[in-house]
Amino acid sequence: MSTSFQNIKGTFDILPDAYTDDGGTRVAASAEWRHVEATVRDVMRRHNFEEIRTPVLEPTELVARGVGESTDIVQKEMFAFERSDTQYVLRPEITAPVVRSFLQHHLDQRGGVQKLFYIGPCFRAEQPQKGRYRQFHQFGIEVLGADQPRADAETIAVLMAVCEALGLSDLRLRLNTLGTPERREEYVAALQDYLAPHADELSETSRRRLEQNPLRILDTKVEHEQALLRDAPTLIDFVSDESLAHYDEVKGLLGDLGVEYDEDPHLVRGLDYYTETTFELEHPGLGAQSALAGGGRYDRLAEVLGSDDPVPAVGFAAGMERLFLALDAAEADRPGAATPDVFIAALGDEAEAWCFRTAQELRAGGLHVAHDLMGRSLKAQMKEANRQNASYAMIIGGNELEAGAATVKEMESGEQEDVPFDDLVEYLKEHVAAKR
Ligand code: AMP
Repeated sequence: MSTSFQNIKGTFDILPDAYTDDGGTRVAASAEWRHVEATVRDVMRRHNFEEIRTPVLEPTELVARGVGESTDIVQKEMFAFERSDTQYVLRPEITAPVVRSFLQHHLDQRGGVQKLFYIGPCFRAEQPQKGRYRQFHQFGIEVLGADQPRADAETIAVLMAVCEALGLSDLRLRLNTLGTPERREEYVAALQDYLAPHADELSETSRRRLEQNPLRILDTKVEHEQALLRDAPTLIDFVSDESLAHYDEVKGLLGDLGVEYDEDPHLVRGLDYYTETTFELEHPGLGAQSALAGGGRYDRLAEVLGSDDPVPAVGFAAGMERLFLALDAAEADRPGAATPDVFIAALGDEAEAWCFRTAQELRAGGLHVAHDLMGRSLKAQMKEANRQNASYAMIIGGNELEAGAATVKEMESGEQEDVPFDDLVEYLKEHVAAKR
């Protein structure tokens, strides 16, 4: 079979079986996605986070302000369009939408700190490559209304707990403090003063950033720029005592939790609403796209989105596709697809009708039941039971209908037993439960 259609470049289908895409990347099976999502949900439950789901479509202005006009995302990676005078964007990330929703629905009135998590697709018009897609999936958390260092440390702990629950090790957590925007402004001026005489030596991108977003030069991958930055002023020397105390407390709490980290004075985020703690989680299995997750405090974002009151907040966003790359590299265990508890093979019209009814009864009893929908031969049906890896098979023909009992075959051992129709549900439930 064939079609002239293909999925859009930079997107991918998630299928019942894992496969390798055109770029040579393994795309995990839907059961693996479910397992990772279930693990995320379980870690969230244990840490008392509640789920929030926001639309994939948002107003373009929300993203422009929430992510920041000067970022690559807003400058060149938004899937944005206009329809009937309304500007829409496919969300490129989920923090700004969550803060919008928190403000719009006055979630602060629920009382206390709002601990929210999300899982869902995001869209960025990036050049597709390994670990970089146009539609990808993020999970993350936002802790809204908490200014305590404990909120920062817990945010990081949740991220580490997800990785641990999935069996990932070899992780590297990079940590820094950005202090307050006011102090950062002083630092940016000092950095510009230092770099200005070297402007000729900078790449075109860095020269542009020197004007628009100088902090971003600190994550340059260009070697001679990195060398130049070794003698540049460092942000931490400009950070206030209060910010340093906050940072020290976060580090102390991480130490108490046994979370290891590397301090990296060059780890920055370009935007003004990012404050205090910032972090990134890396895994060696990811190659060039080494970041599994990133996050930090964003105490000024709510005001950027129009709130009269500040909402101190901290969170992280992790990429699911990168997580799968890391799991592949680590050869971490993942469950296979669910297989039928029982396959019912029928011989003849009467038996087929009986099987169709009985399948529903067994399913109502909680069993995973497969049967043939193609009217195939008994041999073909048994072959199908094998292909689907069913635990039991049941053959029903005229003799069985007459006797009122089914022959139930345990597929692995080949052992068979005659089970009266009335006992079928209980028999199978008991045997299937014993196998699990
Ligand atoms: P960011 O919102 O850019 O800080 O990204 C957070 C996380 O999302 C990153 O650490 C990646 O794991 C993931 N991510 C970001 N962009 C992409 C992309 N284009 N394709 C796949 N994953 C991505």
